[in-house]
Amino acid sequence: MAVAYSKHTTLYILNTKCGMKVGVVKVYKYLYFLISVILLTCYFLTGCEMDKGTSKGKVTSSLDRTSFFPRSVPAGNYTKYDINLKMSSVGEFEVDANINIKNTSEDAWNELVFYFIPNIFTKATSEKLNYSLDVPARLQFKKVVVEKIPMKYTLNKDKLTVPLKSSIGPGDEVKVEFSYEFTLPEGGLRFTKSNENYHLAQFYPMVATYRNHNWNKEEYRFRGETYHNGFSNFKVSYDIPKGYTFASTSENDVYPGKSMGSFEVNNVKEVFIAILKDPKVIQKQEENVNIRVFGFEDKEDLYKEISEVASDALSYFQKNIGPYPFSQLDIVIDGLGMEYPGIVTANSIYNNKPLEPKLLKKTVIHEIAHQWFYGIISNDPYHDAWLDEGFADFATELYIHSTNNEEVPYSSMYAAIQNLDPLPVNLPLDEYEEGKQSSYIYGKSSVMLWSLFEGRGGLKEAEKFLRIYYQYYQFKEVDSKEFIRFTEHYFRLNDDSVFAEWLLVK
Ligand SMILES: [Zn+2]
Repeated sequence: MAVAYSKHTTLYILNTKCGMKVGVVKVYKYLYFLISVILLTCYFLTGCEMDKGTSKGKVTSSLDRTSFFPRSVPAGNYTKYDINLKMSSVGEFEVDANINIKNTSEDAWNELVFYFIPNIFTKATSEKLNYSLDVPARLQFKKVVVEKIPMKYTLNKDKLTVPLKSSIGPGDEVKVEFSYEFTLPEGGLRFTKSNENYHLAQFYPMVATYRNHNWNKEEYRFRGETYHNGFSNFKVSYDIPKGYTFASTSENDVYPGKSMGSFEVNNVKEVFIAILKDPKVIQKQEENVNIRVFGFEDKEDLYKEISEVASDALSYFQKNIGPYPFSQLDIVIDGLGMEYPGIVTANSIYNNKPLEPKLLKKTVIHEIAHQWFYGIISNDPYHDAWLDEGFADFATELYIHSTNNEEVPYSSMYAAIQNLDPLPVNLPLDEYEEGKQSSYIYGKSSVMLWSLFEGRGGLKEAEKFLRIYYQYYQFKEVDSKEFIRFTEHYFRLNDDSVFAEWLLVK
């Protein structure tokens, strides 16, 4: 989400990464009074130490590290992927994927469940789901082999289920091999051909998480992220036609690129590969990170500006939240605004026209913020989407406010969400009305995160909060319940009343 507001808060616009306007409202001065009343009520309810409602108050909190222990939501499996990818000169792909899955749950498994998103964009599935594509994907499975035994499988929408001949007990491992061919759709989401570029997102079978005695696999949706994986290890080898540039989650990709190569990356939720036709490349070194911007139009000045703002934001996030885990960050100015480990895409919002430069830069900052909130601190984006979207927006706004030295415009933030129905921000994606989820997941959640710091140290305290949150939860998965537990401890709250308006305690 990008944020724009003028002085004295006459206009406030919340834009999601999807370009959705959350609210455009006029703000009146009496809101300051109203908010003061609310905050005073909060004071009496929570016993929090206030600092007269300014964002420059003294720090009132700290975390007692001897009595607080973070709890990670377990993934239920630990997975290693070995993927071999071959692309022909006409854009046909062959994949061999060997996947080693360790059962880290307490149950024995009789089947394995994967997300296989390429199937969403075939002619048959996309028509069934009423999703219109310019060109559908083609997909053909050649084999599915479990422990060297060919197995029958079922593929329904993006759910790939592989039955097991003998069950896999807790602590046991199983090796599955997939072999398949595909072409990319045009007009797809993330997994798509865009202009002359190939965006390989979610192109391999991705092992679902396993929790509460079940595979945690929800229905695919075209809005939001409906897939969720544990931190995994990857080995990828590739063979692509000459004339293309390979940019991926790997920190070792070079420009000009090679047509054959391989990389390994550990402890990431997924890998993304972009195979790019004649990009214009701007490289900028930010301390320990090489930032590469790939553009496709005659807009070198804009790409340079993007590299500068990306460098500045990355530096701010590293300093104020924690280290970025790679030595390279790729920014592809093509396709839907989207985050992947070590690489982001940003140009448009759900196939709308390209973003104008100011919003494009904010989208880039938002996607970079996801490197921390999604990439390093994980959450289930179906059941707790706000934990990466709301935090990515919150961090983006922190960066913006830290650079402009203006007061945090709390009252205009509250005004922006005042007309929303009083729903929590942490409902599963299917429980929001069509088209309304972003107002809560991005808009209301980031505003409510800000509200925690109004009167409790403002921007500086928010930075400290994120720093400690990072230290506790890096490479762990957080849910709403754990966020509340952490925050209550951090601010020494006596109860969860500060969350009542916006978080459903699950
Ligand atoms: Zn986002």
